[in-house]
Amino acid sequence: MRISVPELVSLDEILPSEPLLMMGAGPVPIPNQVGRANSIVINHLGETMGKIIEQVKSMSRYVFQTQSKWILGVAGPGSAAMEMAITNLIWENTKVLSICNGFFSGRLAEMATRVGADVTRYEIPEGLAADPDSVKAYIEKYRPEVITLVQGETSNTVCNKQLRQIAEIAQAYGCYIIVDAVCTLSTMPLNMDEWKIDAVITGGQKGLSSIPGVSLIAFSERAHHRIHSRPKPPAQWCLDAKLAEGFWHHNAYHYTAPVSGILAIHEALALICNETLEARFERHLRCSKALQHGIEALGLKLFVQEASRLNSVIGINVPNGIAQKALCAHISNRYRVEISGSFGLDIVRIGQMGEQSRAHHLFRTLHAFGCAIRDLGGDIDLPTGMAELERGLQRF
Ligand SMILES: *Cc1c(COP(=O)(O)O)cnc(C)c1O
Repeated sequence: MRISVPELVSLDEILPSEPLLMMGAGPVPIPNQVGRANSIVINHLGETMGKIIEQVKSMSRYVFQTQSKWILGVAGPGSAAMEMAITNLIWENTKVLSICNGFFSGRLAEMATRVGADVTRYEIPEGLAADPDSVKAYIEKYRPEVITLVQGETSNTVCNKQLRQIAEIAQAYGCYIIVDAVCTLSTMPLNMDEWKIDAVITGGQKGLSSIPGVSLIAFSERAHHRIHSRPKPPAQWCLDAKLAEGFWHHNAYHYTAPVSGILAIHEALALICNETLEARFERHLRCSKALQHGIEALGLKLFVQEASRLNSVIGINVPNGIAQKALCAHISNRYRVEISGSFGLDIVRIGQMGEQSRAHHLFRTLHAFGCAIRDLGGDIDLPTGMAELERGLQRF
């Protein structure tokens, strides 16, 4: 039997005629410069690529705030970078403490379990951040070799604000610490060397405002040494950090690198370097605080208390009588603004990562959000919300 040509609809017909403003939990809008770079294909080996890789590494060192040589790129989502950290630093029977306060920190624990590690989970009640004293108590009780956690839990909008203290405790007990900063890197401070973190994971499509599918990871010297003294290589050939070192540090073939995506991330990093981290953190903080303030002025409630609230993604309780799915669908269809629902919680999430943190996007998003709730029968004070957003942008 022959398989016939399928009936096709053109991409133009599939894609919305007016692009959606991507204000959810990622992917986020990309700057034109990143989009242009992403359309170029060059040889994955050789002098031109070598220069680009050198710059990606040196810019990454600035963004991660590390002097460590061991920056690696990963052809894959943020989860692939998570898996690279886990599968290279952890193996059978490694004692791991996974600090779990959301979906992504749970994913790190699951990955560690799958490589056969002896995983203890410090489960934190919904909406709360990890507490350094509890981490210390867990370390004393279980004596882990490796600790995993997430800086900003995109899933429920909790931020582990005491990451620095936790990392210092981990260091004092000789533990390696792996931090997922997919959502937060370049949106809020993370000083890898100063805080003594052994592996920092990031993805393209969130804080960095690049494309999904190419990710970065940084290993400390100590972590690098552990990887080189493993009892045996990891099972995952593509994610083997020692093999990836061949490409990222010796201009040699490992697998064909995602050249266009690397060019895109080069441009995303260059934009961060031009802006400077200080200015970028300030922009994110001001935009996020102003938007939170505007949302509250509409008459809505934020999901997480300020003490553990993430600024990079804002979680909002869905008003009574409105269905989360209907709200997300309506704001998208009617106002061309995309926001996110959530895995299992009755909240919607609005991102404040990279290009999302621009005043004109905030006004359009808050207006669309308020209108969508009103259209669905919710009771909100839209003029006050919009005025307070403006006031917040001036004040914060
Ligand atoms: C999105 C996200 C991930 C996973 O990234 P993917 O690119 O979807 O694999 C991991 N951790 C955090 C904190 C995230 O926000």
